[in-house]
Amino acid sequence: MPNKFRVFATCDIGESINLLRNRGYEVEVYPQPEAPPKSLIIEKVKSGIDGLITTLRDTIDAEVFEAGKGNLKVISQIAVGFDNINRADANKYKIPFTNTADVLTEATAEFAFFMLGDLARKLWTAEHLTRENKWGFWHPYLPFLGDEVTGKTIAIIGTGRIGLAMIKKCAGFDMNILCYDPAYQNHDYVKAIQETMDLRHARGIQREKTWIKYVSLDEALAQADFVSVHVPLLREGESDAPTYHLFNETNLRKMKPTAFLVNTSRGPVVDEPALAKALRENWIGGAALDVYEKEPLATDSPLRDPAIEDRCRLLPHFASAGKITRLSTDPNKGMAGRCAQGMIDVLEGNYGGDLTKMPYVVNKEAFGK
Ligand code: NAD
Repeated sequence: MPNKFRVFATCDIGESINLLRNRGYEVEVYPQPEAPPKSLIIEKVKSGIDGLITTLRDTIDAEVFEAGKGNLKVISQIAVGFDNINRADANKYKIPFTNTADVLTEATAEFAFFMLGDLARKLWTAEHLTRENKWGFWHPYLPFLGDEVTGKTIAIIGTGRIGLAMIKKCAGFDMNILCYDPAYQNHDYVKAIQETMDLRHARGIQREKTWIKYVSLDEALAQADFVSVHVPLLREGESDAPTYHLFNETNLRKMKPTAFLVNTSRGPVVDEPALAKALRENWIGGAALDVYEKEPLATDSPLRDPAIEDRCRLLPHFASAGKITRLSTDPNKGMAGRCAQGMIDVLEGNYGGDLTKMPYVVNKEAFGK
C-alpha cells in the first residue's frame, strides 16, 4: 500500500527527494534556488501537507504551525542548527522537527581549520600577489610573513560535536588546546586527546609536548592565539548562557592583539560592527567568518572595509558544503539523506511511533510521558 503523504520542500535536496517519492510520497519542491517567501510556506502548509522540508533560511514559528493545524506532522530541517525554528512554538503545537546533526561534523570542523590556516598564513593575500603580478622576488621577510599554526594555542568555544572534531584536527597540528563550554564538558574525550598527544611526543612524532584542558571563557580568550567558535545560536531567554553577541566589544577586547577569531557557528554570535572596529583598531590580529548576522553579507557591511581586507576572510556559509556531506542519500553520511530519513521516521511511525526514540527528532521534550 503506497504512502499517500504530501510534502513540500522549500529547496531541492537532490536525489534524496526520490527516497520519499519512491515510497509513494507526493513531493513538491520549490523550484527557485532562493528561499520562498514565508507567505508561500504558509499557503503550502495550509493546503494540508503532512511534511515540510526546511533550510536555515526559512522562519518557522507559530504562524506556520497554526496554518498546519490538524495536518502538519513533521518539519525536516536540512542543517544541524535550528535557530530559525521556534522550538517553544513547535512544542506548543506538538510538531516534531528533525535536524541533520553528526553527518556534517567533520566537514564543518575541517573547514574551520582551513579558514584558520588561510587567515594565519595569509593564503588569500599571497595568491592575490601572484595573480596580480606583484610577486617580484623571493625574500626572507618581504612582502609579509604569516603566523604558523603548529605549536600555537587554540581556544575551542563550545565542545559539542563540531568543537570536539575541531579539537581532534588541532591536536594533529601539535597545538595546545583550551576548551570552554558552560553546559557540556567531555572530560573523557579531553583525557583521550591528552593521551594521544603524550604518545605522539613519546614516540617522536611531535617534537614539543602539547596539552589540552577546560578553562573559563576569560582564560580561553586571554591565552589563545586562535579562537574557534562552535556554539549554537541561543538568544536571551533560550539558555542560561546565551551565545547571541558572545563576541561583543567586551569579549573581543579580552583576546590577545595577535589572536585570530574563526566563526563557523552562526552569524549573530559575533557583533559585526564590534568586530570590524576590533580589526580596524588592532585589538585582535584577524578574523575568518563563514556566517553572518544577515545572509548573504550586506554590500555595505563594515566587514567589507578594504582597510581590514588582508586580515578578514569572508566565506559564504560554506563549512558543510562538501559533496558527500551535503547530498549523500545515505542518512549516515549526507545531510539530504538524513533529512529525508527524519521525515520518514515520523510519518511512517518508525521506532514504534515513539518520537522520543527517533534519533533525528530534536524537540523530544514535547513528547515524553
Ligand atoms: P552541539 O549542540 O553538538 O554543540 C554545541 C555546543 O555549544 C554544546 O556543547 C553547548 O553546550 C555549547 N554551548 C552552548 N552555549 C554555549 C556558550 N554560551 N558558550 C560556549 N559553549 C556553549 O552542536 P554542533 O553539532 O557542534 O553544531 C554547533 C553549531 O554550528 C550549530 O548549532 C550550527 O549553528 C553551527 N553549524 C554551522 C555550519 C556552517 O555551515 N557554517 C555547519 C554546521 C553547524
